[in-house]
Amino acid sequence: MKGAMEKDVYARARSAMVETQIIARGIKQKEVIEAMLAVPRHLFVDEGLKSQAYGDYPLPIDEGQTISQPFMVAYMTESLKLKGGEKVLEIGTGSGYQAAVLSLIASRVFSIERVTSVAIKARRLLDTLHYSKVIIKIDDGTLGWPEEAPFDAIIVTAASPEIPPVYMQQLAEGGRLLIPVGGEFVQDLVRVTRRQGRILRESLGGCRFVKLIGRYGWQAANNG
Ligand code: SAH
Repeated sequence: MKGAMEKDVYARARSAMVETQIIARGIKQKEVIEAMLAVPRHLFVDEGLKSQAYGDYPLPIDEGQTISQPFMVAYMTESLKLKGGEKVLEIGTGSGYQAAVLSLIASRVFSIERVTSVAIKARRLLDTLHYSKVIIKIDDGTLGWPEEAPFDAIIVTAASPEIPPVYMQQLAEGGRLLIPVGGEFVQDLVRVTRRQGRILRESLGGCRFVKLIGRYGWQAANNG
């Protein structure tokens, strides 16, 4: 009984979140709204933070990392312009929440996480919740996933001083790359589209992400 009531409380918090933070701020894509309504965000945060899971802010997860604010997850997902059936690469699995959302739209989500314990925890949770379209690898994501390339969409959920060159090489024709580019504390969310040999670069606004640490991101020594 307690379980059922608890589930109900979170489902209500989740619809309120979608109404006030997602739809009210202009997210229109039906698939994105449905995915945000479906994924139980409270299970992707620590037990003690469950009651804040549907709040309008990012939350800490393990190893000094963060799960993005709900709006940012929805905004980035919509900005990838997925129609369904795509092969997506995510860098920075973190809690696995963004990957779960993406997997309800795309056909497969390949997600790379550099911190082993973080990746293992996400894998367990995604297995428990049956998000079987997410494939996780523990590695330096700044190298991409050459064996699985090309990807229709690449989403980087950690900030980089510049765009690691391999992402452009691993992007399919017509593909979209989304990456926060800039300094340590504030970045510009950049979308790069590859079309007929041309590269279109757009700025989607300011954002703040934890560091992308690796060969083509920040150096591990600067990991604060
Ligand atoms: N998308 C996540 C949030 C990511 S936080 C979610 O929905 O919860 C950023 C993550 O990127 C952290 O877990 C961090 O360990 C990871 N990360 C940083 N540099 C990386 C790299 N080079 N390759 C893969 N993962 C990286």
